[in-house]
Amino acid sequence: MVDLHSQYLTIKSEIDAAIQEVLDSTAFIQGPQVTQFSAALSLYLKSKHVIPCANGTDALQIAMMALNCKPGDEVILPVHTYVATAEVIALLGLLPVFAEVDANTFNIDVNQLEQKITERTVAIVPVHLYGQCADMESILKIAQKHRLYVIEDAAQALGAVYTFSDGRMMKAGTMGTIGCTSFFPSKNLGCFGDGGAIFTQDEALAAKIKMIANHGQKIKYHHAIIGVNSRLDTLQAAILNVKLKYLDGYSQRRNEAALFYDRELASLPFLEIPFRLPYSTHEFHQYTVKTKGIDRNQLKQHLESKGIPSMIYYPVPLHLQEAYRRPAYPAGTFKITEQLSETVLSLPIHTEMKPEQLSYICDVIKAFPIHA
Ligand SMILES: *Cc1c(COP(=O)(O)O)cnc(C)c1O
Repeated sequence: MVDLHSQYLTIKSEIDAAIQEVLDSTAFIQGPQVTQFSAALSLYLKSKHVIPCANGTDALQIAMMALNCKPGDEVILPVHTYVATAEVIALLGLLPVFAEVDANTFNIDVNQLEQKITERTVAIVPVHLYGQCADMESILKIAQKHRLYVIEDAAQALGAVYTFSDGRMMKAGTMGTIGCTSFFPSKNLGCFGDGGAIFTQDEALAAKIKMIANHGQKIKYHHAIIGVNSRLDTLQAAILNVKLKYLDGYSQRRNEAALFYDRELASLPFLEIPFRLPYSTHEFHQYTVKTKGIDRNQLKQHLESKGIPSMIYYPVPLHLQEAYRRPAYPAGTFKITEQLSETVLSLPIHTEMKPEQLSYICDVIKAFPIHA
């Protein structure tokens, strides 16, 4: 699905030097590279504050802790997402309230959002799934009307640019109250282990987030609030410092691969290529097609038999997961998401894809025996 080794080889000398520098300094925790990276990412995103942390899941958890969400408070999130989004909500004793997604954009359906709001609702968590922004203008409007926080899950969309109707452009993760991202190796900006970051434009909130990520302390051994231990390793920050300058180039490479797929696959009757939104760039963290009138799993097997990996994001919707099932959400509650879990298929996409690989994959897909 991704070729992290080839990508590493293209910048090996720079990466190796950055790692060596950390090894020589032995400042493995809170070394200067962490602050450097946070400043560089803040500049790139035009985000006033960037607080690095240990991973994207922690970023979401810390965001919710910083907003003083209380047990029983309700948080609305799309039901078609990675488990981490729901996990941290439940872990903090909050109630994950699932909302249906739009069948074309795969993102939270803003038309069904307002009916999910109750007097216990405190926040909305839009997820910019597969690399394309949710309808932030509508979400921010609804949030403002009901005085709700917006926590963006930008784990798959770092670098995506959203354009508001008045022409203002903002990067994914910088529009809401708080934004969260992940530097998991296969994400848009991946480190060589786990990593994450939290974004906010609010100074007081930034200070609080920083404290929470570091055991609730501002002064060592003085704990003002309950926190967690969630830091970005210096080694990972050093790697990310090197890779950040390539992020836009990486996005361009994935977009070129996506265009290739689009051109080759658009006319196939049994596939729907990704829908491109007018208001957001697409980072193509995933290139996800929907199958039509065929057995998606047979297509997956067909690819596998020709040595081509593919993935299903996500095979079981959250409301049908054993850990998150509730009487309020029997099977059939979220028809679109349930259908997506049976029809979506993500094809290999990464920064090092060669035209031969792309043509081979497309040829194999075109040769899928529809009436088998
Ligand atoms: C990857 C991901 C996360 C979690 O990030 P980790 O760094 O793996 O903890 C959260 N939300 C979404 C949508 C993701 O894709």
